[in-house]
Amino acid sequence: MLLKDPKVLIPETKIMNRVHELASEIAFDYRGKEITAICVLKGSFIFFADLIRNIDLPLNCEFMAVSSYGSKTTSSGEVKLTLDLTEPLEGKHVVVIEDIVDTGLTMQYLVENLRARKPATLRTCALLFKPEALQCQLDLDYIGFKLGKEFVVGYGLDYAGRYRQLPYIGALESEH
Ligand code: 5GP
Repeated sequence: MLLKDPKVLIPETKIMNRVHELASEIAFDYRGKEITAICVLKGSFIFFADLIRNIDLPLNCEFMAVSSYGSKTTSSGEVKLTLDLTEPLEGKHVVVIEDIVDTGLTMQYLVENLRARKPATLRTCALLFKPEALQCQLDLDYIGFKLGKEFVVGYGLDYAGRYRQLPYIGALESEH
């Protein structure tokens, strides 16, 4: 199976407009407070960088990594923490920033894990959300775009390590 260039699903300008809107929403909701923003590596790094640069509030950046699909396009259902935070979260206003929520198992794991660290508040933000693929009870506070079940790449998201640098969100099309 050969792979063609991804088909554009969400162009760069549309992503940037939505990122600005999300940043304004977050800045409004947290006005007068300081945020601890958690980037969930690797897929969120571009979204995270664009989002936080548009949030006009005092902000701390933290990074976490969880196990991903490897080179597969379906979830293994297993979530493992592979990189932890360097600072305690107790009493902090925490926003977890994810690239995409598919089955929801990763975000569910993150929320449980972070809640145990006793932050003052904890909210979730995902650029992309696939409601039809959700396999657990999960409330997302900030959502960029809703998608169907298609596997997407670009703007930080990869397939087998590739396509992260694309400025748009695209769908992979197979060619036989
Ligand atoms: P979940 O645990 O919600 O099923 O999946 C979350 C993680 O799976 C995401 O952080 C991302 O790494 C990966 N993932 C889920 N759907 C996609 C997709 O359409 N494209 C890519 N590249 N990764 C995905």
